[in-house]
Order: sequence, then structure tokens, then C-alpha cells
Amino acid sequence: MRAAVYKSKQNLVVEEIPTPEPQSDEVQIKISHSAICGTDVHVYLYDIAPPDTVLGHEFAGEISKVGSDVTRFKVGDRVIGLGGTPPPGKESPLRRQDQYNYRLEGITNTRTRGYAEYTVAKEWEPLRLPDQVSNLEGALAEPCAIVTRAVRLSNQKLGDTVAVLGAGPIGLLCLQAAKAAGATKVIVSEPSEARRSVALELGADAVVDPTSQDPVKAIIELTDGAGPHVVYECAAAKPTLHDALDMVRRKGNVMLVALAWEDVPLLPVDWAGKEIQLNTTFASEPYDFKVAVDLIASKKFVLEPLLSDTDTIELKDIQEAFESLIKPSNQIQMVIKF
Ligand SMILES: [Zn+2]
Repeated sequence: MRAAVYKSKQNLVVEEIPTPEPQSDEVQIKISHSAICGTDVHVYLYDIAPPDTVLGHEFAGEISKVGSDVTRFKVGDRVIGLGGTPPPGKESPLRRQDQYNYRLEGITNTRTRGYAEYTVAKEWEPLRLPDQVSNLEGALAEPCAIVTRAVRLSNQKLGDTVAVLGAGPIGLLCLQAAKAAGATKVIVSEPSEARRSVALELGADAVVDPTSQDPVKAIIELTDGAGPHVVYECAAAKPTLHDALDMVRRKGNVMLVALAWEDVPLLPVDWAGKEIQLNTTFASEPYDFKVAVDLIASKKFVLEPLLSDTDTIELKDIQEAFESLIKPSNQIQMVIKF
């Protein structure tokens, strides 16, 4: 089969490799769509994966073979590669400790994942797609599960006003999840004009350009001078956590969705005086996937506007796609179609 093989820092080569065969408790998936995730772009940029790895974990396709002990799936079932519930005792080792919630279950096949024509998974790992959800939409279920979890862990209530900082894929999905959860007004702050217009298309009530206006002042004004009840920080840019804490209303909630890997200096008294609740979220659990897929099926998540004509690519063009993704661009989400 053909696969994009990670060879070395910023070097992916499409080549023939052996097609993985399922063990007795595994299924083989023929991949039809594989979304390029920012995490993989980081791996590519900073050389985090071992050579000869096939990356990619946001994919959908059809079950093409089942192991002799498999009962949950049959050939032809449409699935996404992860989101299934681990049986007792199969949770990742970190999650068995009380202190962490770092979810590593799913896609145990660490050598050959979604940037290939086929992959294999344990029977419990994939999640079935309902008829109303296309394979293309299914490939984007993982980021939908991320924002589903973020909204569920926030204290957002029916009727709240909300700000979303950053309109990359996560921000644009978070906007929709906040609306689905009953926000009456969602304001999106984003420097890219193209992304701001997609935010409006997806139901943002107002957008703010943080390069031409002070987002804190603008968003407070747009919420009758009080600030939003909830701010979702989806940018992880240098000033955005500060902005979130500065703009949120008294006793409001700031949910850290994006992961900043840099020090952010804070003066706690600045926001302690407002009795702000600062919340965090990390990855997602099987229930978040289930809710996310249901929300895609009921069109609460609309995914087409995240994908422009140039965003669907062929596997042979993956190196070029990664090269373009490490530079700033207006592109939102790229998907490989097999
Ligand atoms: Zn991902």
C-alpha cells in the first residue's frame, strides 16, 4: 500500500510499504479521508517522531478486514479511527493514576496510522459513523470532540455571552459548540480576515480584528460593558491568555483550550479581584466523541466552511502540504482524500 512515511525532520516520503494485517482482536480500516492535525505539523517541524513512522490520527474509512475474534464490526462498516471506549484494564497507564487525565487510548498502532491507505486498530478503538455523517466529516470528529469537552467542562450556561479568541479549526468549532450549548452572543477575535469571515458564516454574532483594535476593549463594549460570561482561549498566542482574563466579566469563566508551550507571566491579583474561574481541558474522552458525532449528524457542527477547494489534497502532495502548514496562512483545515 502507499503511505506517507516520516523519514526525518520536515521530510515525508510517499512510498510502498507492507499493508498491515489485523490480529484476531483487531480490524483493518481502509482509509478514505485523513485530516492533517496541528500536532502532526509540530512533530514534523520539531522532529519528534522516530524515522519510518506513519503519522495521522484524524481519519475515517471502512472496515476492510476483521480478526477472528471481532464481534463489534463487520466488513463495510464506516468508522473513525478513534473514540471507542477502552475495556476495563486497557486504559492508558497514565490514566490509571489519580493525578492525570492524559488520554492515550485509541490508535495503539503507533507505526502506521492515518496517512496511509490502510491501518489496523483494536476492535474497541474505532467509533461507528451514523449514515448522516460523511467520511469527510468523520475525519474532523476529533477536533469536534476537543471543543465538545471544552464546553462541557466550562461553566457556560444557557443565555451566556461568549468570546472565542482565535479562529483556527478549534476556535471555529468552539464557536459552534458554544452556540449549541445555548450561548446567546458569541464574539470571535481573529487577525486573519478570511478566518473572520468563516466565523461570521458559522454564526458568530460579531468579529474583532485584534491587529486593528484592542480586543479587550472591543469585546467588553460588545457585551454591554460587562465583558463576556465565558472566554474560550483557542489561540495560545502570547497576549491571548492575558486578554481573556482582562475581558471576562466578574465571576466569569476562562477556558484554556489551546495549549501554550511558552511561559506566560501573570500577575494573579489582576484577575483575582474579579474572582475569575480559570478552567482547563485536555484532549477528549469517549463520551465527548459520541456527543461530537451526534452534533455533526444534527448539523450543530457545520464543517464545510472550514474546507476550501484547495484544502482537499492527494497523498502524493503531503510533503508540500506540510511545508505550507508550517508557514502562516489563511488555510484552516487540510484533508487527504484517498
Ligand atoms: Zn489531532
